Amino acid sequence: MKKGINTICTHEGDIKDEQFKGVVSPLYMSTSYAFEDVEVKRYPRYFNTPNQVALSQKIAALEHAGAAMIFGSGMAAISTALLAFLRAGDHVVLQKTLYGGTYNFVNEEFSKYGIEYSFTEGLEPEDFETKIKGNTKVIFVETPSNPLLTITDLSAISKIAKKHGLVSMIDNTFASPVNQNPIDFGIDIIIHSATKYMGGHSDICAGAVASTEENMDRIFQLAKNLGGSLSDYTVWLLERSIKTMGIRVKAQNNNAQHMAEYLEGHSEIDKVYYPGLPNHPGHELAKSQMRGFGGMLSFELKAGYDASKFQKALKLIKPSMSLAGVESTVLSPAQTSHALIGAEERKNQGISDGLIRFSVGIEEPEDLIADIEQALAQVRSPSEVNVK
Ligand SMILES: *Cc1c(COP(=O)(O)O)cnc(C)c1O
Repeated sequence: MKKGINTICTHEGDIKDEQFKGVVSPLYMSTSYAFEDVEVKRYPRYFNTPNQVALSQKIAALEHAGAAMIFGSGMAAISTALLAFLRAGDHVVLQKTLYGGTYNFVNEEFSKYGIEYSFTEGLEPEDFETKIKGNTKVIFVETPSNPLLTITDLSAISKIAKKHGLVSMIDNTFASPVNQNPIDFGIDIIIHSATKYMGGHSDICAGAVASTEENMDRIFQLAKNLGGSLSDYTVWLLERSIKTMGIRVKAQNNNAQHMAEYLEGHSEIDKVYYPGLPNHPGHELAKSQMRGFGGMLSFELKAGYDASKFQKALKLIKPSMSLAGVESTVLSPAQTSHALIGAEERKNQGISDGLIRFSVGIEEPEDLIADIEQALAQVRSPSEVNVK
């Protein structure tokens, strides 16, 4: 019988404590396992210690996949997955709006390996298809994307991939498996920065990949050589974190919707980007492929308001890197996550200098609103005092 999300989060893959009958999975820290009479040679870098295997089962179940692997970071997961399906002379089509680290990995490394790549001009399915060449092997998408929460059509992308015999990959970090299961729409390989919603407490750096057993075996063959495995202690902590992922993310969905509606109705906020808002260009598509709209949104203050001063004036919401923790955080993509891609590329992606990315936590929305109001009061110029 198919289990519900919170049941999978809490129980799937857990290791029975046969010795002491404790309720949580025991932690096995061994890097050395007996080699006699055993079929599998267990070793952390082979991704097959008891805790790694147990957590992989949970993540595979969460993503409706046949198998999964856990990595030392989201970038270890992304780089290993891409390189496992690309070799010199191959070509990959990538969505133009991508996590900054993925963009840098492709731009800085691929030419060294003789791998060709194209970024799409837009986000429509045709924008992907027109970039496909005879040597294209992989198509890579991210939806919702960072930081403008654009939505890419998963069914259309998977159809294009199948038509041209390509492997489709998605960075599913922003949605989390709670809100989106791309395998159900025909996407082949699902990648997560587990540092984000899977970890959820801003204290774990990890990554994950889920797919069929056959695809995961191909990824494993490269992963064991690259060596991007995660320590068993962190694997165990990640298992603990994922137990509450369902309830955390659902609370964050609700809070983000609440905050998006509040910001949208605010006279001192110019633009709000959130797929849960009916006027978001990807709203209908998001409704068709997501169960919740996620905990991430972006907004721009009214012209003339200083975005960095505003962020410094916040008391409860922390201006900080990264995202998806139970605590609310904000950052300026132009100065942080998208600083390295350069001003011109930022403009091309529609990322203004005043854009603020908001990772909504699990606090009471009234407290978040009060914090934003007091920060706005500090950056408001005297002539605008009567604006509200
Ligand atoms: C953070 C992030 C990554 C990279 O993950 P790390 O764990 O920092 O290596 C990749 N994609 C997205 C969408 C992210 O937010």
